[in-house]
Amino acid sequence: MVIRNVELETVCGVTSTLPENTLPEFAFAGKSNVGKSSLINALMNRKALARTSSQPGKTQTINFYNINGDLYYVDLPGYGYAKVPQSEKVKWGRMIENYLHKSQMLKCVFLLVDIRHEPSANDKTMYDWVVYNGFRPVIIATKLDKIKRSQIQKQVKLIRTGLGMEKQDILIPFSAETKQGREDIWNLIDKMAAG
Ligand code: GDP
Repeated sequence: MVIRNVELETVCGVTSTLPENTLPEFAFAGKSNVGKSSLINALMNRKALARTSSQPGKTQTINFYNINGDLYYVDLPGYGYAKVPQSEKVKWGRMIENYLHKSQMLKCVFLLVDIRHEPSANDKTMYDWVVYNGFRPVIIATKLDKIKRSQIQKQVKLIRTGLGMEKQDILIPFSAETKQGREDIWNLIDKMAAG
């Protein structure tokens, strides 16, 4: 995928109405700090357009990035923030669920998990929501550079089992440091946007 033009087109808060887009949408979900902003920036060929958790003032919104006027990357709110009150968590949950349920143009949900850890209960819930809404999530196992090559297969198996993935479901190990896995993700998006 050649990135010619990127624009943060729509930002939706809890009370906003979701846009009725006519271009294919590709959504990214995962717990806070999993590396979602880093992945989205890598897929946009930008250093810091999607805000990372370490940046102050990061609010919980659904952000729609228009890519080349061809498709959208949809950055869903990161879940699992320990400091946030339960009432807020419930609101974000509803916001994500509402998006998954309502979007007419959503082609695929990429669910990010850290390759070093077993998926959490929140990861499993997110996975189940995606499946419940009729999508097969594509799992991105982030921070690939943080483990040894010899550990990859074991961690992949742990994640597949933890989430209850089906055999045919796709898991792509990815590193924002080395950009390993990026080409595979771009190819998948190209294929699904066309089909
Ligand atoms: P987000 O909260 O899911 O958007 O996560 P960020 O993209 O802000 O990443 C959280 C932290 O993990 C930051 O310090 C990133 O630099 C780091 N990080 C993200 N992806 C990778 C990766 O692939 N490799 C390494 N080594 N660090 C990463």
